Amino acid sequence: METLDHWINGRLSAGTSTRTAPVYNPARGIVAREVRLGSVSDVEEAISAATAAFPGWAETSLAKRQQVLFNFRELLNARKDEVAAILTAEHGKVTSDALGEVQRGLEVVEFAVGIPHLLKGEYSENVSTGVDVYSTRQPLGVVGIISPFNFPAMVPLWFFPIAIAAGNSVVLKPSEKDPSASIWMAQLLQEAGLPDGVFNVVHGDKEAVDAILDAPGIASVSFVGSTPIARYVYERGTATGKRVQALGGAKNHMLVLPDADLDLVADSAVNAGFGSAGERCMAISVVVAVEPVADELIGKIKDRMSGLTVGDGTRGCDMGPLITREHRDKVAGYLDLAVEDGAEVVVDGRGIEVDGEADGFWLGPTLIDKVPTSSKVYGDEIFGPVLSVVRVESYDDGVALINASQYGNGTAIFTNDGGAARRFQREVTVGMIGINVPIPVPVAYYSFGGWKNSLFGDSKAYGPDAVHFFTRQKAITSRWLDPSHGGINLGFPRSH
Ligand code: NAD
Repeated sequence: METLDHWINGRLSAGTSTRTAPVYNPARGIVAREVRLGSVSDVEEAISAATAAFPGWAETSLAKRQQVLFNFRELLNARKDEVAAILTAEHGKVTSDALGEVQRGLEVVEFAVGIPHLLKGEYSENVSTGVDVYSTRQPLGVVGIISPFNFPAMVPLWFFPIAIAAGNSVVLKPSEKDPSASIWMAQLLQEAGLPDGVFNVVHGDKEAVDAILDAPGIASVSFVGSTPIARYVYERGTATGKRVQALGGAKNHMLVLPDADLDLVADSAVNAGFGSAGERCMAISVVVAVEPVADELIGKIKDRMSGLTVGDGTRGCDMGPLITREHRDKVAGYLDLAVEDGAEVVVDGRGIEVDGEADGFWLGPTLIDKVPTSSKVYGDEIFGPVLSVVRVESYDDGVALINASQYGNGTAIFTNDGGAARRFQREVTVGMIGINVPIPVPVAYYSFGGWKNSLFGDSKAYGPDAVHFFTRQKAITSRWLDPSHGGINLGFPRSH
C-alpha cells in the first residue's frame, strides 16, 4: 500500500517516524493509502529547511514573488480538475463541490498576486521640521499552518499564498484524514518557480502539532479546526510567544421571518444544510423559524429533501459520504438523542439508499423539528447532514437565541424587510452575516472569521487581516542632518 510522504525542502521525504494513519476513500469504505505521522524531528527538519530558505525568499523582489504566485494561479486554474478529484476521493465531497472549494481557494491566490499593492507603507512628510516618518511591512519568518479535514485545499489556500507573497516561508501540517491535496499543491508551487524550502508539508497528528506550537523557530501559527483544539492551539502557541490565529467550530443559525419567501428559504436551507454532507464550518445547522411559518417551511424543505441523491461523489450525486465510519456513527447517534430529548425526527437519513458501495460512510439528509435548546442536538456542533428546526415567537427571541450560542461563525436572516435585516446585522454577535444569503463566506478581499468560540486571537483569515498577520510593521523617523539640528535637549522628542 502507498504511504504518503512529507514534503521537505522541495522533495518527498519519509522522515524518521514509523507511525502512520489510514487514509480512506469514504465513498468505498476502504483504506486507500497510509500517511506518515511526523515526529518532532520531522517537524524540526521542515523548520530547518524553511529557516534556511527564508532570508533568500524575503530578499526576493516583490515583482519576482508576484510572478511565482501568478504562475501558481495559472497552473492551479488549468489543473483544478486534478485536485478536485483528489478531494472527492479522500474527503468524499461531490465533484462540483470540490471544484467550488478549489475556486474559493484560487480567489485567495488572486488576492495574493496583488501583494505589491497590499504591502505599501505610509509616508508623512515634514512631521517635524525636516523630519519624515514612514512605515514598512516585513515578513515574520517561518509560519506554521495547521488545517482541518473538511477543506483540504481551500483552508491551506486561505493562508499560504498570502504568507508566501509577503516573504515568509511555510510549514503546513494538513489534516491526516485527507492529506494528498497539500502534497499536490506543494508540487505545483515548485512547478510555479517557488524556491525549495519556502513551502514544506509535514503530515501528522498531535505530536506534529505540538512540535510546531513549541518550536522557537516558528513565528506564527494559523489554525483551523474544532473549538477545543483551536483554544488549545491558541493558548499553547501564544505561551511560547507566537502570533496565533485559531479558527474554531460553529453552529450556524438561519433566522426566518414570517415575510420571507419560503421557497427561497427552503432551497437555501437544503443547500446550506446538506452541501458537503454538512461538513462545513459555514453550514446552516439550525433553522430558527419565527411563527407561524414553521409548518409550511418544513413541508417545503421535506419536499426538496426527497429529491436529493446521495452517493459516490464521482457519480453526479448531490451529496457524498461522511469522512470516517466513526464520525458517521457519532452523527447518527444524535438522531437517537433527538428522540430521547423530545424532538421530532421528520426525515431520518439512516438506511438511505445510495448510489455507491455499501461499505461507504453514508448518512442521508436528516431533518429534526422542535429541537429543545437544552438538547445537545441543538448545542453541539454535529458536523453532518442534520438540520434542526427551532420554533420561536418573535424576531427578538430568534436573535436572543443566536446571541446566546457559544459560537459566532456565520448566520443568515431571510426576510424582505430591510429594516429588520439592518437591525439583525447590527445586533447579532456573529462574525459573518448573510442577508438572504445562506453561506456568507466573504470574498478574498474581505477577511474570514467568526466571533466568540469560533475564533481565538484577533486576526481573521485572508484579506487585509492576513496581510497584517503575516507581516510586522516598522515605523521609521528620518532626518537628514544639517547644522541647525545641533544642541543639547534631554526632553522627550516632540514636533516643532
Ligand atoms: P480537528 O480540530 O479535529 O483537527 C484540526 C487539526 O488539528 C488537524 O490538523 C488535526 O490533525 C489537529 N488535531 C486534532 N486533534 C488534535 C489534538 N488533540 N492536539 C493537537 N492537534 C490536533 O478538526 P477537524 O475535524 O479536522 O475539522 C472540523 C472542524 O473544523 C469543525 O469543528 C469545523 O467547524 C472546523 N472548521 C472551522 C472553520 C472556520 O473557519 N472557523 C473552517 C473549517 C473547519
